[in-house]
Amino acid sequence: MSEEEKVYISYNHVHQLIQESTPRLKKFNPDLILSVAGGGLIPARQVRTFLKEPGSPNVRVMAVVLSLYEDLGSSSTDAEKIGKQVVRTQWLDYQNTDFTLLGKNILIVDEVDDTRTTLNYAVNELKKDVEEQAKAKGISVEEANTNFGIFVLHNKLKPKKADLPAEVYNETNYIAAREIEDVWIAYPWESNDIVTHTRKAIEQGNDVFLP
Ligand code: 5GP
Repeated sequence: MSEEEKVYISYNHVHQLIQESTPRLKKFNPDLILSVAGGGLIPARQVRTFLKEPGSPNVRVMAVVLSLYEDLGSSSTDAEKIGKQVVRTQWLDYQNTDFTLLGKNILIVDEVDDTRTTLNYAVNELKKDVEEQAKAKGISVEEANTNFGIFVLHNKLKPKKADLPAEVYNETNYIAAREIEDVWIAYPWESNDIVTHTRKAIEQGNDVFLP
């Protein structure tokens, strides 16, 4: 893809996209922010800032690391990786802690919903964990009352390779700050020349917008 075809996004723009989404984020009202690393790391921390209410503790941010294995191709012998296309490089540790998913509103944060493969995988794996934890406690998944929401900076308008369950893909639970055509988005944290990156973002109108 040529440089001209990329959409450049500045740090200011990211910050404002999250600020703009705050009413919807507050409506979902997460107890836990779950960042999908690496792209979700910086937005997740910014989301926490905008959710902070005076006198209340910060919403906890945790991270999972997922890797897309689409490019392994047929040369790989690991059928499971190819089948799922995503592998957990790092996941949540439930052992030896009182941490549980049960009864929580969990906001999964990533930078972009492209083919939806990663978000589909994350939600499915988390739902499996909820099932296990509910079973261990002798309650049903419904009684567990865990809700998953998603926040992304950009949702690409394109045919997706995977779906999200209806309880997640709805007006309240699925929050995309912007819907965008199928272009490559250059995020500021990927840049090793932030001056040129920001200049391009300004030229494209993707920097701070003043009220
Ligand atoms: P998925 O296809 O599973 O929705 O997205 C997988 C990952 O590919 C995203 O989390 C993101 O890291 C990366 N990705 C997809 N589209 C873009 C894009 O336009 N720009 C950047 N920087 N990363 C992208």
